[in-house]
Amino acid sequence: MVRGQEEEFRMERSEPRFDQIRQILEAQRTQILKEAGRVVESGINNTNELFPDPTDMATREELEAFSLRLKEREKNLLRKIDLALDRLEEGRFGICEACDQPIEERRLLARPVTTLCIACKTEQENQEKRNHNPRGA
Ligand SMILES: [Zn+2]
Repeated sequence: MVRGQEEEFRMERSEPRFDQIRQILEAQRTQILKEAGRVVESGINNTNELFPDPTDMATREELEAFSLRLKEREKNLLRKIDLALDRLEEGRFGICEACDQPIEERRLLARPVTTLCIACKTEQENQEKRNHNPRGA
């Protein structure tokens, strides 16, 4: 218990500028979990009794397909948020994974889950484009 408090204190003292980002990440995390909970809840409420009309049934299937996609997207984002929080805890946050240089703070604030600086992200995107068009077409 005491050890945890000490660790928290140490981190806050070493990286006070990341406090804001940690709050953003935790708020995003809470928001996703709340949204996910609502999707699950509405799914439970959407019983066949509420949708006796076949037309409505089709709509319900579309809604379910949509909520499944949403969950997949949310799962990915949640994973990224957890990884970012891990990096914060371990003092690795804000360091580009590709070039080991600090990531621009403006970029971190706009997109806290990022692991690449702008230069490396741009390079990665160019690489992806090249891979999609190997002949440079
Ligand atoms: Zn970089």
